[in-house]
Amino acid sequence: MELAKVCGIIGCSNEVSVYVTEVLHRRPINQNAFCLEHFQTFLNSIDSKHSVSQPPSASVAGDEILFDVELLCFFYRRDIHQGDIVQVHLREESGSRAIIIEIGYCEYSVLYHLLAGAPRSRPLTHQAMASTISSLQALLKDVVIDRKDEKEHHFSAHLRIEQGNRAVLVDVRPSDAISLALSTGAPIRVAESLLLSSG
Ligand SMILES: [Zn+2]
Repeated sequence: MELAKVCGIIGCSNEVSVYVTEVLHRRPINQNAFCLEHFQTFLNSIDSKHSVSQPPSASVAGDEILFDVELLCFFYRRDIHQGDIVQVHLREESGSRAIIIEIGYCEYSVLYHLLAGAPRSRPLTHQAMASTISSLQALLKDVVIDRKDEKEHHFSAHLRIEQGNRAVLVDVRPSDAISLALSTGAPIRVAESLLLSSG
């Protein structure tokens, strides 16, 4: 992918700070490059679109809410000593709330290729995990992002796997949970308690 150097908003000559992939129904629908200011304008426009079209969903603590990937945001750092920052923005399916998860560049690359449907000649880790689950005659029921370490500022997730009558919970990073969900078609859920604590 050829990376644009100048903000994609007409009339703006600022350097690009963020490359954004918009996602709908698990497929990339738009690619944009923004300076930080126009990135914020873009986020505000997406938020207001959701708050107009979607009433807040009625849910209670203990619920798990269906979410899906809405944006991949790659913050480009020109300084080689600064690490890349990548965010996955997940949006509530029948409401307006969003959750932002930071992931690494390698995980971003995997998610991007999964969304774009790019074939891989050799199985990546999430594909190997998916094959392992199905080889054991088990089914990935869903993935749940259900905890946040307030000190470390990172989220944790679980895979919920069913094998016959047996239910198995597996601890994973959210990026692995999301890539497995995308590659198997499993739903992504977020614990209501997490949304309440994130404000
Ligand atoms: Zn701009």
